[in-house]
Amino acid sequence: MKSIRHLLFVSLALLLPAAALSAKPIPGPKGGRIVTTAAPHIELFVAPDHTAVVSFYDADLKPVAPGAQLVTAVAEAPSGKVTLAFAAKDGALVSTAPLPEGEGYRIVLQVRDDAEARPKNYRVEFHAEKCGSCQLAEYACVCEH
Ligand SMILES: [Zn+2]
Repeated sequence: MKSIRHLLFVSLALLLPAAALSAKPIPGPKGGRIVTTAAPHIELFVAPDHTAVVSFYDADLKPVAPGAQLVTAVAEAPSGKVTLAFAAKDGALVSTAPLPEGEGYRIVLQVRDDAEARPKNYRVEFHAEKCGSCQLAEYACVCEH
């Protein structure tokens, strides 16, 4: 029993540094947040009109037109949860309605590679104020503070 516990502890300790390394943020080409850690990359950008724009990129951050992906987003706003649908527009997927008023809430982006694929969830804490260091909105900030 003791040795199993020890093994568990050792493997957890080995996993932790790897997780810390992979958390280094990638700047979003549109000024939004890259939610993925490996290609194909997905960026969530909140446009000035408060619509959510989801863009896809290859490993070199070159834009890739959306294909069969199905995207929904749930905005967990203080006024209540709002589910947004997306439609293709200008080489990206744009929410058909704006995000709820305000900021400081969580957005859960759910992406399926196609209709048969299992959904992947990406959580973004939406803070709209600008970061003083990188000049990006705080939800898309690439500084490691
Ligand atoms: Zn920053």
